[in-house]
Amino acid sequence: MQGSSSENEADSRLDPAVAARLRRDDAGLVAAVIQQHDTREVLMLGWMDDEAVRRTLTSGRVTFWSRSRGEYWRKGDTSGHVQYVKSVSIDCDGDALLVEVDQVGAACHTGARTCFEAGGDLGATPAARPQAAGRTAPAAGSATTQARQEDR
Ligand SMILES: [Zn+2]
Repeated sequence: MQGSSSENEADSRLDPAVAARLRRDDAGLVAAVIQQHDTREVLMLGWMDDEAVRRTLTSGRVTFWSRSRGEYWRKGDTSGHVQYVKSVSIDCDGDALLVEVDQVGAACHTGARTCFEAGGDLGATPAARPQAAGRTAPAAGSATTQARQEDR
């Protein structure tokens, strides 16, 4: 049908308003953090070019650009571990996306639920916020408040 084919053409470019906000790396890619929408599990990280972002925004399925294979890759097409898109957000400076999904099965190709489970804990030395900082709020205008406001 003529109507649907021109719709497809209109659809074949990423929305310029979205494209203008992307800050791509030298390879034309932005990072996409994939999160399970209800449990908030951080599932994996992938890379997207403009076309992968467009497909992810419009098709209901997460599509990545595979840097190793040099091709588009729709999550779940071979594994069955589909990611259904719930929402896509962009970060403050445009170089990363947060894609909330409903993940079928394992997000990681190893079979682990998340890629970070698969990779494992690197054994960072845990740190605690200093006790005094959180216990009582300093009076407004105090030196501490001043110092905090200047803290970037
Ligand atoms: Zn993985």
